[in-house]
Amino acid sequence: MKSYPLVDLRQEYLSQKKEIDMAIARILNKASFFLGEELEKFEKEFARFIGTKHALGVASGTASIKLSLQALGIGRGDEVITTPLTFIATAEAIIAVGAKPVFVDVDGETLNIDPNKIGKAISNETKAIIPVHLYGIPCDIDPILAIAKKNKLYVIEDCAQAHGSTYKGKKVGSFGDTGCFSFYAAKLLGAYGDAGAITTSNKELYKKISLLRNHGRSAANKNLHLVIGNTSVLDSLQAAILAVKLRRIKENIKKRLSRALYYNKLLSGTEVEPMILPSGTLPSLYVYVIRVKKRAALKNYLAKKKISAGIHFPISLHLQPSLKSLGYKKGDFPFSEKAAKEVLSLPLHQFLTKRNQEYIVSKLTYAANLNK
Ligand SMILES: *Cc1c(COP(=O)(O)O)cnc(C)c1O
Repeated sequence: MKSYPLVDLRQEYLSQKKEIDMAIARILNKASFFLGEELEKFEKEFARFIGTKHALGVASGTASIKLSLQALGIGRGDEVITTPLTFIATAEAIIAVGAKPVFVDVDGETLNIDPNKIGKAISNETKAIIPVHLYGIPCDIDPILAIAKKNKLYVIEDCAQAHGSTYKGKKVGSFGDTGCFSFYAAKLLGAYGDAGAITTSNKELYKKISLLRNHGRSAANKNLHLVIGNTSVLDSLQAAILAVKLRRIKENIKKRLSRALYYNKLLSGTEVEPMILPSGTLPSLYVYVIRVKKRAALKNYLAKKKISAGIHFPISLHLQPSLKSLGYKKGDFPFSEKAAKEVLSLPLHQFLTKRNQEYIVSKLTYAANLNK
């Protein structure tokens, strides 16, 4: 039986094999793995793509959030507002710098942080908001920026799932003080190992993060350490691979969106709710997410038909054992909890054919009818 993976990293590699192999061989032959022209070239191209003055390659998406917080001077005793419907890394980065995550429930439709609920969560300790552009759907950024401005808060955008998503004609990652990207292998722009980037147009922040990602090392004297930093520079091998993949990103984004629209068309009038793609935004979709009631039964049935489905994410963060000390309880964020029970991600990648999608939807709607 043919199988239908969520993403197809092997086909993606094969589609650019020659260029990727050449990039890898070039780095190995140069034997130059750290900082330098390969990294700078990727950073320039990525900054141009997002529309910021600077980009800094870092070790991972998690590191990009942590470094942003450190560069903004956020730490012990501070609070940072974010969504409970995200990958654990968003909260982990806040805790890693000694600050406390404060969750605000999501909008029931977009599943992104609800700007109307942010005001009530602001205290004297609040220093920043981290909106997460979940699944590649841009947050409603304008009201978030307005609240931040009024309350003198920083905005750190978590763009780990939204490489190239646009909101009112501008790319996410260009609105906040910094934009944080993950290039984890399965992300829309993926390296072959852990990797990430920070975008910013603020020169001071750019300089601070340059220090913080590399042991606080002075540019003029490598044995002089100016601040306590991290081992967090994106290595040249991954930067060179990412530069090759970046050339295809616009095409990849377009193909994913057209497949999402085709899913929506196939699902309209069925038992299954299609994904909501808000107007005024051009999402760069990381995953295609439907909402279903009897999810476990559906997922099992799809697995029997060799169709992989994912869950992003099955547990709202405020109910994670590792975040228990924050003191939240069941019922605190009802929209996030409901979404965590219902969301199901279907295969979405640039190699998916219309026929593949028709097959996936026929199996899905069959199972949904059985499990009404
Ligand atoms: C993947 C992801 C991260 C973390 O990125 P890593 O590169 O795995 O460290 C952070 N936030 C969100 C929303 C993510 O999806």
